[in-house]
Amino acid sequence: MVYDYDLLVIGAGSGGVRCARIAAEQGAKVAIVEKQHWGGTCVNIGCVPKKLMMMASGFGDEAKLSQGFGWSNQRGEHHWKALIEAKNNEVERLNQVYLSTLRKAGVHIYTGSASFKDPHTLQICKSSLSPEYFETKCVSSERIVIATGSLPTLPDIEGNTLGITSDQAFYLSERPKRVLIVGAGYIGIEFSGIFKGLGSTVDLVYRQKLPLRGFDEDLRQALYDGITQRGITQHNECKPLNVLKRADKYIVHLDNGKKIETDCVFFATGRHPNSKGLNLSTVGVNLSSKGQIFVNNEFETNVPHIYAIGDVIDKINLTPVAIAQGHALAERLFAGSQRHNAYAMTPKAVFFYPPLSSTGLTEEEAVKEGEIEIYQTQFTPMRFAFSSSKFKTFIKMIVDKKTQKVIGLHIMGIDAPEMMQGFAVAIAAGLTKYGFDQTIGIHPSSAEELVSLRQITRVAKKV
Ligand code: NDP
Repeated sequence: MVYDYDLLVIGAGSGGVRCARIAAEQGAKVAIVEKQHWGGTCVNIGCVPKKLMMMASGFGDEAKLSQGFGWSNQRGEHHWKALIEAKNNEVERLNQVYLSTLRKAGVHIYTGSASFKDPHTLQICKSSLSPEYFETKCVSSERIVIATGSLPTLPDIEGNTLGITSDQAFYLSERPKRVLIVGAGYIGIEFSGIFKGLGSTVDLVYRQKLPLRGFDEDLRQALYDGITQRGITQHNECKPLNVLKRADKYIVHLDNGKKIETDCVFFATGRHPNSKGLNLSTVGVNLSSKGQIFVNNEFETNVPHIYAIGDVIDKINLTPVAIAQGHALAERLFAGSQRHNAYAMTPKAVFFYPPLSSTGLTEEEAVKEGEIEIYQTQFTPMRFAFSSSKFKTFIKMIVDKKTQKVIGLHIMGIDAPEMMQGFAVAIAAGLTKYGFDQTIGIHPSSAEELVSLRQITRVAKKV
């Protein structure tokens, strides 16, 4: 069989772009299809604009903090429209960077939506953004990679369409004075911090006792305290029953009997794999009822020559993981490489103010593996020395008692993700606590605490 391409990638997000580019650089004939967002969710309606907005929100705090250091500037008013315009310009710039990177690598670009006609053929329907002349076009490829990402999930309650999701939050024409956020996962926590920092009143509604289910319990408690300290109202152990519109306001009834009036309801209630519309049933690709495409460790679906990477496989739904998967797959297919990444030690960050970061096991996971030693500390960083708001830095290190390897690290505090990235290398490489202790600290810094944890806080084992 002669195909149009050696590799065709559906979806130009972080994983898809990396996969297409590396394959093309290895000499493969590659095409990529994208409906709307060059660079995908991360660049357009995810990590990148979120971080810009989080920084915007943090500058208000920095201005306030600087007064303690002798600056006389007052914390001024924030101009939402100026932020959104600057953010949009940056996103547009990055879209062009992604397109030009792909073109430079020799990847053929299609703007449109793709669906399977048969296991080697895609039908591409031109989108309104498409510069190409075709209406629909069929292209064939020896191998096809599905990298279509994920979409926000709305809770199944009355009035759910009256709320927004992160997709719209990045494009609001005005900042709502009051926001009610449902969900205390990554997005709920990050946006509650963003809106609060920019001046909104924030109600955070979530089902668990503590935010960020799945993270270390002590870190979750530190976050709970930090959210309260930030002035966000937490409504835990409850969920919304409905959303009602009253003139230009919204009323949300919670199942604990509370009723909250707000200007904006924001659902941060998880995401689901974006696999609908690909016509996967035609080619027999196995997927879950939620739309998750099943793959093996080599990202192969059950159909030969069809692969899937990133959020659509619903494993670890983070941009760097999708990039690593796309890179590894392209190298395996076209460079004969057997590259495998340390996915088990994937560092995570949640950009609240102050942010959180974790690598490795939580205490709850670690005790299941054996006896552990826990080192824990909390302190006020110098940045808050002259301020009335003293956001503490929390550090928790988990060490396997037998091997003395550091198997978990959890930090909440200014610069936590920046600190974690370096330490994650040591943890992924299996460094022992002794190895940490041997390292000389940088003084004065918060990170030096990580190489100065001398006193075991407690020993824990499975009961
Ligand atoms: P998460 O899965 O992180 O959190 C979802 C939240 O919504 C949880 O608090 C969950 O509660 C709650 N929830 C789910 N369904 C309902 C419901 N029906 N009613 C009420 N509450 C509900 O999803 P997010 O939307 O926050 O983020 C999606 C994904 O995006 C993340 O998992 C992450 O992979 C990625 N992401 C990563 C970021 C980063 O790396 N910094 C930033 C933003 C997103 P419960 O815990 O009770 O289930």
